[in-house]
Amino acid sequence: MTCKPTYLIFSFLFSIISIYPAAAAQLCGKLAQGEILVGMAPEAETISFRGKTVALTPQKTFLIAFGRDELPGQTLIINGKERPLTVAPAKWDIQKLTGVPPRKVTPSEADLAAIEHESKSVRGAMAGETPVPYWQAGFIRPVSGRISGNFGGQRIMNGIKKNPHGGMDIAAPVGTPVAAASDGRIVLAEPDLFYSGNVIIIDHGYSLFTIYAHLSEIGVVKGQTVKKGEIIGKVGKTGRVTGPHLHWGASLAGTRFNPQSLLNISTSDDFCFNL
Ligand SMILES: [Zn+2]
Repeated sequence: MTCKPTYLIFSFLFSIISIYPAAAAQLCGKLAQGEILVGMAPEAETISFRGKTVALTPQKTFLIAFGRDELPGQTLIINGKERPLTVAPAKWDIQKLTGVPPRKVTPSEADLAAIEHESKSVRGAMAGETPVPYWQAGFIRPVSGRISGNFGGQRIMNGIKKNPHGGMDIAAPVGTPVAAASDGRIVLAEPDLFYSGNVIIIDHGYSLFTIYAHLSEIGVVKGQTVKKGEIIGKVGKTGRVTGPHLHWGASLAGTRFNPQSLLNISTSDDFCFNL
């Protein structure tokens, strides 16, 4: 026999690879409530999550996000095959307040109309599914400064649960420039909304949106495209606020998640696991 040992090793490895084909999909990020993850599935033709089709980029990457109150048992369906996902729980800040004047807990009739107008505008702006992967430019924090409010925090006023905080608050003086967190297209640039005040929403493609609220100035118009880091407005204290800050929100296909997790979006091996 003249078989070289190296040849034997290679043929052995090759036979293992043939028996166990490469993992069909990888997810990168934290598999937990309030997080967004980027996936890679080179052989995927179709992916669905919660009964909705997940858009694949030409490079076969995709995004999925888990909401604040996501249940632990979730399923991703790739080429018709179910892949179970176990979503880890996260801890949220809960603040119990008692003795709050009732008019501050239950909105008036006039306020309800303004609140309804706001939610319609915001929902309408985030209904699109732009097939341009602007988000691949990566994300930066739109303003530097102290985080004065975490995503997911909730106030319980006089025993009534208020809506959980849908974004993160970054404290900064009025007039501080606000940058676009990534490339995208402006889908909302509207003044004077009830809660959000002057607000901008950027569409980053593939049903991913970021929200910038309580601005003192809006520096962009609807339909305009922006680059990551481009100044889009200024920090303010418009809408329902107690002090100047930027409320930065994020949403993927209608699911609000912690925008902080956008900063860690990466397909580097350290953050990835096989499905
Ligand atoms: Zn906020």
